[in-house]
Amino acid sequence: MRLSKMHLKTLREAPTDAVLESHKLLVRANMIKQEAAGLYMYPKLGWRTVRKVEEIVRQEMDYVDCQEIFMPHVNPGELWKETGRWYAYGPELWRIQDRNNNDFVLNPTCEEMFTDFVRKEWSSYKELPFSLYHSQFKFRDEARPRYGLLRTREFLMKDAYTFDATEEDLHTAYMRQYHAYEKIFTRCDLDYRIVEADNGPIGGSKSHEFSALSDWGESDILYCDNCGMAATVERAEFADEEPAKEEMKPTEVVLTPGTKTIEAVCEYLDLPVEKSIKALLFVVYDNDLQPKDYVAAFIRGDRQANMIKLVNALNVPEHYIEFADEIAMGSLTGSVGGFTGPVGLKNCIIVVDSELVDTVNMCAGANQEDHHMLNVCYGRDYTGDIVADIKKLQEGDACPHCGEPVKFRRGIEVGQVFKLGQKYSESMNATFKDVNGEDCYYWMGCYGIGVTRTMQAIVEQHHDEKGIIWPMATAPYHVIVTVINSNNEAQLNLAADIEKKLEMQGVEVLVDDREERPGVKFNDADLIGIPIRITVGKLAAENKVEYKLRREEDHEILTAEEAVAKAKALVDLEGDGRCFFSRLSEETMNSH
Ligand code: ATP
Ligand code: MG
Repeated sequence: MRLSKMHLKTLREAPTDAVLESHKLLVRANMIKQEAAGLYMYPKLGWRTVRKVEEIVRQEMDYVDCQEIFMPHVNPGELWKETGRWYAYGPELWRIQDRNNNDFVLNPTCEEMFTDFVRKEWSSYKELPFSLYHSQFKFRDEARPRYGLLRTREFLMKDAYTFDATEEDLHTAYMRQYHAYEKIFTRCDLDYRIVEADNGPIGGSKSHEFSALSDWGESDILYCDNCGMAATVERAEFADEEPAKEEMKPTEVVLTPGTKTIEAVCEYLDLPVEKSIKALLFVVYDNDLQPKDYVAAFIRGDRQANMIKLVNALNVPEHYIEFADEIAMGSLTGSVGGFTGPVGLKNCIIVVDSELVDTVNMCAGANQEDHHMLNVCYGRDYTGDIVADIKKLQEGDACPHCGEPVKFRRGIEVGQVFKLGQKYSESMNATFKDVNGEDCYYWMGCYGIGVTRTMQAIVEQHHDEKGIIWPMATAPYHVIVTVINSNNEAQLNLAADIEKKLEMQGVEVLVDDREERPGVKFNDADLIGIPIRITVGKLAAENKVEYKLRREEDHEILTAEEAVAKAKALVDLEGDGRCFFSRLSEETMNSH
């Protein structure tokens, strides 16, 4: 491809709203362009890379016998009502109506549609197991689209679904996808971590996230170097300690004027924060978004509440719960903003963190303005309607498996795998006949990869101050041939010769034959990040060129043939999917 014939409008300045280097660089390199909040177009170079990432994903899905199909982007709201997700999904779900007022959904994910397809087309245990996938743009009306391609409202996702006869078979299918994901993100040259994750609104029993490590990631990861535990903050369990044994003392209400925070009250009463109980007040809505229940949740004063664990404990969709209006709640339940405690509350669901069950002589709000209650004991003075772990594991806390202090990192969630179990097959009555002719629900799994998010995660991990440094496997082109003087016949001829020889061997070449100053061409080549640069300049008369890798500082002078051979060898080594298999450990390969 000749750059003189291609649209490439690189920018010196990044958009003012861009904070991430990867976002700035993709825009400056003219690989992505925002049309509206969270909606992007992909000029030629950007689209080539999207397709390269997609192709890696496709190859690995095909390798585990996952069958590629294609579904419509719009699907009937009726299917979503069958599973209840029409109500439970929240405002991210892009609901639309046709001219006859029928409800439809722009796919944010496709469990319903795949299950519907399977219940109509498959029927016998003899056809099991099988798996299906498609690579398709998805729509989520995100509250805050941001960070370029990391959180958009339309994004390319590969979503796969497995269908099995038994729970054990589902485990096998899950692990095959899990290993395919390891290969995909290794081929994308990502430094990633696999972490246990919450199933979220998709549901099911087990899940892992694949997170590309980055300080800008929105996924918070806790991990333990000692035992290998790794989980998202939402998911990470907390190992409750046994509190020191104490005699129960009688409760006592004391004056604590103006002490509305835990820190203030503990300072005022000269108590350690661990001896206090923190209250969090919520309202839960029903399907019509009318207030249904009030919730008072209690955790130890020095802990942070984990909203996902709380939502799971209450078994309500995440968007059905929000912080309560203290005054409205107070008149009904007897709580008093800033001074709410568990003793004497009425007309609300009391959720108590598991750690509090063994505590005695704690300080809590007294449900009276400017008063707290001392020596509050679980069991004697209050109990919970629900007792569950609803707190966050934080950096430095004990690992739930081995007790060593856990560490914290951020990551960009590039993929997630879920064991769905029979949630969708049951709610949609998707069955197959087993060997005895009995109807059985499928055991299902689902597996997503954000292709466009992955593309930006690669840039986040592979760039320098001059621009992107694409790994060979996802670069829009492998080689850029930079012609120093586009009016020089010898230079143009040699560049054309190199281009032809490389292309005949399957190497993808961009020739910068634009009438621009060499400095402009070099800057653009660095910015768009093509892995190999072959510069054709004055030495063309001697059949010599400059050969340089984007990731290295130094260049070397080679004959044109040597440069072609070297480029081809490197592309073979790093760019071709097939050679990847030799780079995998025996263990991973054998697990198939
Ligand atoms: P997040 O927690 O970041 O909102 P999610 O867990 O809701 O993502 P999944 O339902 O697991 O996302 O979707 C599968 C994959 O699709 C994610 O792992 C991610 O790579 C990608 N993805 C999800 N939402 C977006 C988005 N708004 N923009 C770009 N990619 C996305
Ligand atoms: Mg996810």
